[in-house]
Amino acid sequence: MLKVRRIRQMREKPREHCAIFGVTCDDIGYSVSNFLYRGLIALQHRGQESTGISLLKTGGNIFTYKKNGLVSKVLKEKIISQYWGNVGIGHNRYATTGAVGFNSSLYMQPFHFKNNEIEFSMAFNGTIANFDEIKKRMDEMGRIFITDTDTEVLAQLIGSIALGTEDWPEILKLTSKLLDGSYSLILMTSKGDIYAIRDPLGFKPLCIGELKTEQRNLYFVASESCAIDSVGGFFLRDVKPGEIVHLSHQKDIHSELIINSHRTAICQFEYVYFARPDSILDNVSVAEARLQLGINLAKNDPILKNPEIYNNAIVVPVPDSGRSVAVGYAKEAKLPYIEGLMKNRYVHRTFIMPGQSKRKIAVKDKLNPIKNIVKDKDVILLDDSIVRGTTTQQIVSLLREKGGAKRVHLRISCPPIISPCYMGIDFPTKNELIAGRLQLQHGDNYLKAIQQVIGADSLVYQTIDNLTQAIGKTKNELCLACLTGNYPLKSLQKLAQLEDSIVKSRI
Ligand code: SF4
Repeated sequence: MLKVRRIRQMREKPREHCAIFGVTCDDIGYSVSNFLYRGLIALQHRGQESTGISLLKTGGNIFTYKKNGLVSKVLKEKIISQYWGNVGIGHNRYATTGAVGFNSSLYMQPFHFKNNEIEFSMAFNGTIANFDEIKKRMDEMGRIFITDTDTEVLAQLIGSIALGTEDWPEILKLTSKLLDGSYSLILMTSKGDIYAIRDPLGFKPLCIGELKTEQRNLYFVASESCAIDSVGGFFLRDVKPGEIVHLSHQKDIHSELIINSHRTAICQFEYVYFARPDSILDNVSVAEARLQLGINLAKNDPILKNPEIYNNAIVVPVPDSGRSVAVGYAKEAKLPYIEGLMKNRYVHRTFIMPGQSKRKIAVKDKLNPIKNIVKDKDVILLDDSIVRGTTTQQIVSLLREKGGAKRVHLRISCPPIISPCYMGIDFPTKNELIAGRLQLQHGDNYLKAIQQVIGADSLVYQTIDNLTQAIGKTKNELCLACLTGNYPLKSLQKLAQLEDSIVKSRI
């Protein structure tokens, strides 16, 4: 029971799937707040609940401003002109449902740490797996916490290591060695240095860029390369797993590989769904990977050999994330690619809306089938993934009942998601994952069971081999834990086994 409670506690504490962006300029009279605004806007898809920035003012004071809402709502022109400085970091936050204090400013980032000796601000994307252990040790040391987030634990840990020293590379090296989990982190010191750190397995993306003009030099660090593009910078490279990169407005870029792992665990879901298609993550174009995912699905699709279906078929994407994959599928299948679902752009992405009931309402509000396109057709519907199944079920039903489609053939670019993610992405429980639950209930026949629940006439998922081929990385380079149940961190493997046994006992 204790262990069950522990799992629930882990579920209920706020977890982030976020965006981070930092910029430093060698001209101390120049404000980078406008760059923060543009960088964070480009990364809005990674988090929409709150926006925050920290800026270093001349004289070494850090100012932090954060509020609930989209970047454009929080960082109004007045704020941008009021908060200025030549070094800054920013954060977009996505908080998961059920978190206590979900809307509270206490949970927003950047996290601004200040005591008598040291001041810094940090922004973080990820989940610390040994959060409880570190927090317990810090509690014993008499530290007082105001939130129960990974971010504060991390900030307090850094703060305690930094006592009596300002050797930041050493402080951060030591911190990294104590952490177990997935994290990409940027930290701005009161001296105006920015440090960017990526965990040894490289779960979360992080990259650096620059903009050199005759007047000044700027360096950037961002969750995705699309943010560097959008501020007019040049992408330099990814931060390597286990690396600390030091961006200084005085000294250029320095880096050090602090932990060299025998493998990496780059999140496959970034390529499938989360990242923006115009981003390059760890040397792979997200758009090209998605295109290839579509090609692979078509290459292995039995319905394309059935003339009755093939001659009546159209390829329709679920907008927006199904588009690249549908283009690849249609190209390979030599079938027309047609937008058969109209999307209302003013409703947020359903997967990252908190609360299951809101999710259900949003699908009907968000998508409308275009009858003249889909009526009497064999619709080959391309989507990136099936998580809970409720959204997909409603889309299939909309196409058939409202759109008049003859049949709906569902093709999914991500293999079945059977296990939760403990690395910071909101797949809450195995029981809520349609593939995870039905696999436990139906064994090898679970794909048929998913098809029946969803109501599709046929269903084909990407295989794991075809996924890795499309991304162009080996199984040893990617995290595939939500698809295989094999976690790259031992501590999480135990948690997954425990959750499996809980779900099985309830079937
Ligand atoms: S479990 Fe899945 S979503 Fe989570 S980090 Fe691994 S690949 Fe990404």
